[in-house]
Amino acid sequence: MPIKLPSFRPRRDAYPPDLWTKCPSCGEMLFNKQLDKVLRVCPSCGNHFRLSAAARLEMLVDQGSFAERDGGLESEDPLGFVDQKTYPDRVAAAQLATGMRDAAVWGSAAIHATPIVICVMDFGFMGGSMGAVVGEKVTRAAEHALANRIPLLIVAASGGARMQEGTLSLMQLAKTVGAIERLRVDGVPFVSLLSDPTTGGVFASFAVLGDVNIAEPNALIGFAGARVTAGTIAQELPPGFQRSEFLFSHGFLDRVIHRSELRDEIATLLRFLVARPAPVPPEGPGGDPLGLPSFRAISFLSNLAERVLPPDPDETGGSTNGHRPGSVTPSAPPEPPAEPPAAVPPPATAAPPVDPAPRVAAEEAERG
Ligand SMILES: [Zn+2]
Repeated sequence: MPIKLPSFRPRRDAYPPDLWTKCPSCGEMLFNKQLDKVLRVCPSCGNHFRLSAAARLEMLVDQGSFAERDGGLESEDPLGFVDQKTYPDRVAAAQLATGMRDAAVWGSAAIHATPIVICVMDFGFMGGSMGAVVGEKVTRAAEHALANRIPLLIVAASGGARMQEGTLSLMQLAKTVGAIERLRVDGVPFVSLLSDPTTGGVFASFAVLGDVNIAEPNALIGFAGARVTAGTIAQELPPGFQRSEFLFSHGFLDRVIHRSELRDEIATLLRFLVARPAPVPPEGPGGDPLGLPSFRAISFLSNLAERVLPPDPDETGGSTNGHRPGSVTPSAPPEPPAEPPAAVPPPATAAPPVDPAPRVAAEEAERG
């Protein structure tokens, strides 16, 4: 006689792999669906969990407004780097796990109907490390913001430069900073949101160069790890070292904002920060026919060299404070570099300068 087995409901093919998350801060077990509803902030202790790039975009920008660009950019393996795995294998595994091509996405979007250019990093993709692709995306986002005079918002989440790309990843620091500098010179706003964690080469380049630098509560933000820092300075570190609140109280950040208020606060900021109107391209033989901003890699480097190199002994008064022949203060009396450059006249009018170069020189002199 055949045995009749009780019938069971067929097993569901795919259960969500993680139904519960344990809060690392207070130990509470949190139901993931519930956690998603509260923007992944622990309801009992306020711990801000890390967000994927997709979740971050959904939380920040107007629904359906994000249009990704350069989604197909992918890392190559120029060094043939192998540690326990080959670099292409690592990238493939990260792509499979996250559904992303690399650790950042960028595109155009809107917050409270204000158009923005946004670039979001994802710590889940190889620790949000910055290789050539991330550097390129940040740079393209900045260039797009500059060309269209739209504010730029970058959400950083990174452990630093991607070691598998060696010096190519380090070159991204200079590249991204160059692109951000052009925004500053041209008066296009850049808001930097530092999320947990923002460290290493990303901290050391574009992430802290915002016109406004904001962070989420208790985010780890710093260059080197606490242990390395403590070892280097041979001192005990103060409590809360490298956390948002510590950096805020020391003037390094402009604001620490709870995740539930981020969207509204950034929208308010963007109402204040409006891009300066495009400068009129200067005419004449010295003018730039394409109307490109005045940043030039060569002039930037030579200006840097002027500051770093010891002054020519033939010159009197020294030239390390950035004053050059033809700059705004040719007839100013020689003064020691340490003196505050109060003699530098401000730009003549409040209207957008016809030639941005004198303004740049004036700003450089102010900082010099
Ligand atoms: Zn908690």
